[in-house]
Amino acid sequence: MRLILLGPPGSGKGTQAQRLVQQYGIVQLSTGDMLRAAVAAQTPIGLKAKDIMAAGGLVPDEVVVGIIADRIEQPDAANGFILDGFPRTVPQAEALDALLKQKQMKLDAVIELRVNEGVLLERVERRAAETRARGEAVRADDTPEVLTKRLASYRDQTAPLIHYYSDHRMLATVDGMMPIEQVTEEIGRILAAVGKTGGNRAAKKASPAKRSAKAPGKTGPAKSAKKAAKKAPKATAPAKKAVKKSAKTARKAVKTTPKKASKASKKAARPAAKATRGTRKTSAKAAKKRAAR
Ligand code: ADP
Repeated sequence: MRLILLGPPGSGKGTQAQRLVQQYGIVQLSTGDMLRAAVAAQTPIGLKAKDIMAAGGLVPDEVVVGIIADRIEQPDAANGFILDGFPRTVPQAEALDALLKQKQMKLDAVIELRVNEGVLLERVERRAAETRARGEAVRADDTPEVLTKRLASYRDQTAPLIHYYSDHRMLATVDGMMPIEQVTEEIGRILAAVGKTGGNRAAKKASPAKRSAKAPGKTGPAKSAKKAAKKAPKATAPAKKAVKKSAKTARKAVKTTPKKASKASKKAARPAAKATRGTRKTSAKAAKKRAAR
């Protein structure tokens, strides 16, 4: 299973990702964790990222895309992965699409954790206090001042991904204000609807009929994308070579995405997105009803 968790800092992505790791036997790929490890190890990437992260900005797209391109090829990710904190910009999402297509991998879902901004500061402060109480080092960016900047980065650069994945009929939104357990159950229901079950109660409860409930990603454009992917020639290069090549392609995708063109295509896609949003809501409602039965 391949999944993206989307949400502002403090929305609970890390907490939910850890639970999904247990339930589905997949790995959590957090670019934030990877970058923090790089900073601690003082690698060239870490040195580059350190000040940007401490200030609440975003590390350059090609850096994180390169990290992810290498990481998803590792054997422990073969069973699936949860992307937590990536993609964080539209060019990163486009690069990820290119990367997955090249590796003949498919995303199963993009789950947005929606929360009121008002609670985020409180949550992040609580996290910092708990970390301190455990005697561990508090993240340099878990301060009210930097959080404000991280939230601004989220609003400006990451929130547009909600439209991006909604336009691609991949998005499912969960109310991240609910208690942790309920958020987990809701995610379990969404994953069951795309045919993925874990060891959790919510997923076990779903009958095969319920599991076949149509998920947003299984309709319309996704179908033709599937067909196209099937037609694509199989990669024959040795794994190592393929990793390098795909990282290169992904980086190229980041570099070559013309800002103007993506803006224009976004504009063009808007009316269509509006039109599909209605049907999505209805089908989500229907799926919910079915699941409740
Ligand atoms: P958050 O709690 O804000 O979601 P993360 O642990 O995901 O924190 O990320 C911490 C910092 O690492 C970010 O503020 C940013 O500087 C950097 N970072 C993580 N992922 C990315 C990414 N995909 N693109 C750019 N920068 C990233």
